[in-house]
Amino acid sequence: MPTIGVLALQGDVVEHMAALAELGTIARPVRRPEELADVDALVIPGGESTTMSKLLVSFEMLEPLRERLRAGMPAYGSCAGMIMLASKVLDGRPDQEVLSAIDMTVRRNAFGRQVDSFETDVELLGIDGGAFRTVFIRAPWAEEVGPDVEVLGRISGGPADGKIVAVRAGNVMATAFHPEVTGDLRIHEAFVELVRAAV
Ligand code: GLN
Repeated sequence: MPTIGVLALQGDVVEHMAALAELGTIARPVRRPEELADVDALVIPGGESTTMSKLLVSFEMLEPLRERLRAGMPAYGSCAGMIMLASKVLDGRPDQEVLSAIDMTVRRNAFGRQVDSFETDVELLGIDGGAFRTVFIRAPWAEEVGPDVEVLGRISGGPADGKIVAVRAGNVMATAFHPEVTGDLRIHEAFVELVRAAV
């Protein structure tokens, strides 16, 4: 049974822990380098990426986390977590750190003020059982992805038609939306499968 950590510096940690526990994994909060060393994989929750970036620096977690990701640790990030996993952030803060685990440029708060928060159905590659009800909260999208990044889902219809909101690069997945708030566990399930195959 894999042990999956949830980065617990800031954000919706509890919801991810609950989803992972429901799927029968051992879920642990991760705040310190010693705790990171003890997990097989990591979920980076939604929250606020500039704050998370600062906390990673002050908890001396930034380099250990980069190191684990370089060494192939599976990871999944939702919303702010997707921003953290990117290689470049548009509309971020100048001192905002990223983990560069996925070769992509993300735009922070991409959907604009009018649609701070919204829900829509998105078809996701590799997720069976119909479209996924997605919840976006001041969400990013991926503006550009590198050749090794697989696009798993795009917005369909409306002003953001075609925008990339779910990706995978090797063992690292990211979604601009929050599957942890809807009770639909299919994305966490896909991640747990990926972790099982990788460790
Ligand atoms: N807008 C937030 C950020 O910049 C992300 C929002 C979220 O995680 N729900 O990090």
